[in-house]
Parts: sequence; C-alpha cells; structure tokens
Amino acid sequence: MLCRGTDSTCLRTYDEIPSFLQGNPCIRSGYRVELRTKLSCLKSLFWLSNETVNVWSHLVAFLYFVVASIWVNCVVIPDTLSTWWDHFIFTFYLTCFQISMLFSACFHLFNCCGSESYKWWLRVDLVGVTLGLCGCYIPGVYYAFHCHEHIQMSYIGTVCLLVLLCSTAQLHPLFLSHRWHWKRLVLYSAVSLFGIIPFIHWITTVSFAVSILQLFYPKVLILYLLGSIGALFYATRFPEKFFPGHVDLFGASHQWWHILTALALVWWHLAAVELFLYRVTTSCPMTEKHV
Ligand SMILES: [Zn+2]
Repeated sequence: MLCRGTDSTCLRTYDEIPSFLQGNPCIRSGYRVELRTKLSCLKSLFWLSNETVNVWSHLVAFLYFVVASIWVNCVVIPDTLSTWWDHFIFTFYLTCFQISMLFSACFHLFNCCGSESYKWWLRVDLVGVTLGLCGCYIPGVYYAFHCHEHIQMSYIGTVCLLVLLCSTAQLHPLFLSHRWHWKRLVLYSAVSLFGIIPFIHWITTVSFAVSILQLFYPKVLILYLLGSIGALFYATRFPEKFFPGHVDLFGASHQWWHILTALALVWWHLAAVELFLYRVTTSCPMTEKHV
C-alpha cells in the first residue's frame, strides 16, 4: 500500500478498494479511497495518484479551449468578413469541448467519493463525451457544406439525432456498468465513424483540384488517426495489460486515451479555424460544383 502518513492521503491497492472502483485489475495501486467530501476530493488534485494524469490532462485542455474561445471571438472572427453565425458556431463547439474536458476531469477527480458519486459523475462524463462528439461535427459540417445549405442543415439535423440517441442509450440501467465498457466504446466509435459519410459526400461536391480539399483532407485523416489510436489504448488496456502494476501512476492506457482525445480536439479546433479563414476569403460558386 502506498501511504503518505495520514488516512486521508492514503493510496490503496486494487485489492483494498471498493468494487465500484474496480474497473481495471491491471492498475494495481495508487487508488484514492475514503474521501468522503467534495473538498477532500478537490484537495487530491495535488496528490500523485493513478488519476492525476487523467484529471490534469483534461483540465489543461479545458483551459486551452476557454482561451481559444476568447481568442477566436475577439481576435480571429472580427478581423474577417464574418457573420454572427460564425461567432455562434465557434462558441457552440468550443463550449462543447470545454464541457467535455471539464466533465471528464470532474469524473476522475470525484469518482472516489462513494459509489453514488461515482455513478453520477460517470453519467456526467458520458454526457461530456456525447457533447464532445457533437462539437466535432458542427464546425466540420457547417464550413465544409457552407455552399450547400440544404445538405448542411440535413447533416446538422442528423448529428442532433445521433446526440439524442446517445443520450437515450445512457438511460439504460446497465449503461454505466463495467460490463458495458465495450458496448459504450462501440456506441461512441459508431457515432464517430458516422463522420466518414458527410466527409465522403463532401469530397463528391468539390473538385479534387480545389485547394480546400487539399487543406481539409489530411486534417480529417489525422483527427481519425488520433481518435483511433486513443480508442485502441482504451479498448486493449495496453500497456498495463502486459505490465500490470508498472504504469499505475504514469503511462496507463486511460491516460493515453485522455491525452490523445485532448490532442484530437485541439487539432480539430485548429483545422476549423483554417477552414473558416478559407471560407471567408473564398467565394463558393467559382470553386465548387452545384449540388
Ligand atoms: Zn476518462
């Protein structure tokens, strides 16, 4: 047992923790337990536990998106021939990203407060995942189909429907259980992979010679690459599965999942800014086919 002198700063091993925290037997130590109040959980923000990287990775990303939102709305957009819709789109998806990162950090910070707290914050975390996915779709669909309003609105409607379906699935009593670990991954992966459909559709609406395709195409590929590598860590529980107990504090699969998802959202935000700048400086009919 890793212990720091007093009960409140004790870290426990997997065999000593309550069952609601026993999600990954390959993480052998570094568990925070017996933190009965929100304040004591909050103080554990400054401990080195197996949740430290999980909490801080998404807390830093949350702060990044707060700053990004101010910067985009106060500096980038006013500098161009934009509309209030541009402010709305950027504010909407950056708020989704902020909520997603903050909810995730909160889950990992407060999950040791008791089984009810664990369940409540896991639900909050999953709401954040759904919003994060929704936030990814909105700028991509809006700016990619900027010149095709009907298609744009159809896909935005479809994304809203997917968000609704995800939220409904979360009402299932087993949705939060450790047993549904895989089912949750499959559901969120399916929602992510749906994005390939508007992407292929968009490719058919622009000429391969058009610079927007050359600009946007690699960005989508890298987004999916980061997300896929993250999901692979999450699903396989590599490296702790092969080195149980050796990556408890640093290098566990969930930590890689967090870092890669945060990087994917940062990457997508930077791509959205580039796409927006392209759209406000390039007129539609001259560069794209009519659909
Ligand atoms: Zn997490």
